[in-house]
Amino acid sequence: MFDKFKDECGVFGILNHPDAANLVYLGLYALQHRGQESAGIASVVDQKIVSEKEMGKVVDVFTPERLSRLPGDTAIGHVRYSTAGGSMLCNAQPLVVSTHKGPVALAHNGNLVNGAELRRQLEATGSIFNSMSDTEAIVHLIARSKEPTLEKAIVDTLAQCRGAYSLAVMTPRKIFVARDPYGFRPLAIGKIDDALVVSSETCAFDLIGAETLREVRAGEVIVIEQEEGAAAPSLRVVHRFPAPREARCIFEHVYFARPDSVIFGNNVAEVRQRFGAQLAREHPVEADIVIPVPDSGVFAALGYALESGIPFQFGLVRNHYVGRTFIEPKQTIRNFGVKVKLNPVRELVNGKRVVLIDDSIVRGTTSKKIVRMLKQYGAKEVHMRISSPPTTGPCYYGIDTPERRDLIASASSTEEIRDFIEADSLGYLSEEGMLNAVRKDDDPSKLYCTACFSGRYPVVEPEFEAAATQA
Ligand code: AMP
Repeated sequence: MFDKFKDECGVFGILNHPDAANLVYLGLYALQHRGQESAGIASVVDQKIVSEKEMGKVVDVFTPERLSRLPGDTAIGHVRYSTAGGSMLCNAQPLVVSTHKGPVALAHNGNLVNGAELRRQLEATGSIFNSMSDTEAIVHLIARSKEPTLEKAIVDTLAQCRGAYSLAVMTPRKIFVARDPYGFRPLAIGKIDDALVVSSETCAFDLIGAETLREVRAGEVIVIEQEEGAAAPSLRVVHRFPAPREARCIFEHVYFARPDSVIFGNNVAEVRQRFGAQLAREHPVEADIVIPVPDSGVFAALGYALESGIPFQFGLVRNHYVGRTFIEPKQTIRNFGVKVKLNPVRELVNGKRVVLIDDSIVRGTTSKKIVRMLKQYGAKEVHMRISSPPTTGPCYYGIDTPERRDLIASASSTEEIRDFIEADSLGYLSEEGMLNAVRKDDDPSKLYCTACFSGRYPVVEPEFEAAATQA
């Protein structure tokens, strides 16, 4: 049942720009890595909200005709990836609904840990759901709130939501943005011309030429609005929910966010390089070359190479055009599956002792195939180094990590995993090393969520608690 609520997503919005939908389109294009299954944009036309959404990638969903049906100077958009059970158009966002306080569109990144419970309560009192995503519970709560204004209804609603949300709620004149009190997922506000923009990651601001103003702080509910007579829209903090602690997702830095983004106050590429350097200090090895698993291991491998003095080589080449539908060959070809995506450069690896760097091992199948391939291509030794600790638990806050039983590190020791992936040695970055490398000022152990590595879940509902503690 938890599978249904696993969404990886990206959110983008803009208020007060004549080219709003086109800029959202570009923003979503830059956020495509956060979700490739569906894409949607909602815009304000004559005080009403219209939307276009479809299964597929941004570039395929948004034809010029589709975009031309989204005029107006205010728009929000969403990209989404979901595991089995949730991959249907009805779950695509933004969700657009009519409430007695006016039309509302909502784009949400993150998972609520009490989404199922909220849904049960709402259904028990007559709400009809059209989708399987917990995001719909948020719009029902907004619509049903007894608060007199939409602003208060949103605060009232978010007070009932537990877990992860970075969201944009659009009304005909405003965009509300909010991050949950733990601040699991990133969300930033920027400016372009006379418009304000909001995005899951700053790489989208770079693409449209917007400047980053600031991140939405954990627990903040902010309204972006164009006041009557004002030349440009303004920002106003509507509410700030208190939190026992922050719990920014460390996995955004490890794998999920784009390296050119600044999230949680740090550039992702720099953090990954620091992870790699720390990994080199924790797990040194005598070798001839450092090779990344592209693209996920590139920056950590650079950090490892610089720190260890072992030369960096692009020893694996990635085919960037791998699609979903693919005609499998009838004959068995060795390592076919992984070779479609990654192929070693024989001339670089032949006869070499290789340090192979990736960000994480999930099931272990990718690493096993790559190690085998490198050896077939003549590598003398393959020393696997991972720029995060062993992944031992699922994520309940919006990263698509498989169930515990499918995570190789949940039941196997590092030596058993080394044996399984057929590497000559295996070393993982320690949790302490990772946290010290992510940020140099504040105490990172109080700021980041490391649940998928440590099993310490910052916020859990009873039903999740049972799953979280299952061996
Ligand atoms: P596996 O073969 O299951 O061990 O997969 C490991 C690979 O999956 C690594 O190259 C990771 O970069 C990548 N990976 C880790 N987390 C995710 C995720 N949430 N979605 C997609 N790929 C991931």
